[in-house]
Amino acid sequence: MPFAIPGLSPALARAAHQLGFEQATPIQALATPLAIGGADVLACAQTGSGKTAAFALPLLQRLQEGPAHTPRRTRALVLVPTRELAAQVGEVIRSLGQQLERRPKVAVLFGGVSINPQMLALRGGADVVVATPGRLLDLVAHNALRLDSVELLVLDEADRLLDLGFAEELRRVLWLLPPRRQNLFFSATIAPEVQALADTMMRDAVRVDAPAIAANEPAILQRVIQVDETRRTELLRHLIKDQGWEQVLVFVATRYAAQHVAWKLYKSGIFAAPFHGDLSQGARTQVLQEFKNGQWDVLLTTDLAARGIDIAQLPVVINYDLPRSAVAYVHRIGRTGRAGQSGLAVSFVCAASEAHFCLIEKRQHMSLPREQIAGFEPMEQEAPASAEPPGTGGIKGKRPSKKDKLRAQASGKPER
Ligand code: AMP
Repeated sequence: MPFAIPGLSPALARAAHQLGFEQATPIQALATPLAIGGADVLACAQTGSGKTAAFALPLLQRLQEGPAHTPRRTRALVLVPTRELAAQVGEVIRSLGQQLERRPKVAVLFGGVSINPQMLALRGGADVVVATPGRLLDLVAHNALRLDSVELLVLDEADRLLDLGFAEELRRVLWLLPPRRQNLFFSATIAPEVQALADTMMRDAVRVDAPAIAANEPAILQRVIQVDETRRTELLRHLIKDQGWEQVLVFVATRYAAQHVAWKLYKSGIFAAPFHGDLSQGARTQVLQEFKNGQWDVLLTTDLAARGIDIAQLPVVINYDLPRSAVAYVHRIGRTGRAGQSGLAVSFVCAASEAHFCLIEKRQHMSLPREQIAGFEPMEQEAPASAEPPGTGGIKGKRPSKKDKLRAQASGKPER
């Protein structure tokens, strides 16, 4: 069946079809026609729901309309929280735009790498800019681009933009944009601060809610395995070998753990690599590419680094350390079972983190059976009272302060 969305141009429907999209995902079916119609949209959609194409298609359609400008003017701006997501979103827009009559020039801008190539890339203008807010502002300050022709603004993963402390930069970017524009706002959660940001940007936005990942079961099989904290690496090694898992994404709480566990697995003959914010951008890009190519079987990652990773049909995600919040849990398991593919999400729960996992279950309105693996039956006693998982830096509602984060950064330990 050809890919179809009401109002979508045949050329773009063909482009989506060529990427292997046969049918619109729920968020595409709900949000894209509204966006094509010119509405401001506030969309609640998880990573993995197909949200990138949900805004990339109307964005490209808008660029096909109206007179062509020489030199090019930046008519569409997509703001994202991380470098990886910037690269990924840029790639989707380029792929979809490739066959169009007016092939748009897409510039992808993010920090952590030299600014000069990005300044060069902006010579002659760019139709679409995909950027993290800090680097975008730097480039504006260098007069490398202007934002006064932006007709369409997309905020992707707005909740993460705020989580990562980009509120001030966002405010400054918004100030540089023409007031008359279309706004598309995507967020996995619409917490009060996210809603407040949406309110500052949009009036009369249409709210669209894609079905939550948890509701998409059984696309993602969620398993919970009880194990002693000190035996998690051993159990991980056992499961990877026993189950023959490949392309396993393992979430840990700290950069140190990513290094340490990866090294232990590697020493035992498993191709495991760490992936975290201490690696240079070049090293991160390379490891990710190698993981996608199948050179690494296991990637040990922190939440921050994992944001934006898009690997089709990632089969297994493991919570070696539990996430801090139910929202982070949904983000993590959303790395598997993407766009309808089935996937497996395994959480290790030890005595000290059982209460915390119960909290996640409660917030997610779910209750998962606990399993034990022969030879790895837990011996530790359940910890009293505290619901804080080891090494995760607190539970939601008790987030570390800015000072805590700076201290953590200084000690090179937790990632967030
Ligand atoms: P996203 O939520 O944008 O990160 O997309 C998650 C994954 O779903 C990506 O690998 C996309 O290529 C894929 N995808 C997006 N839309 C569709 C679709 N309509 N049909 C099949 N796969 C899709």
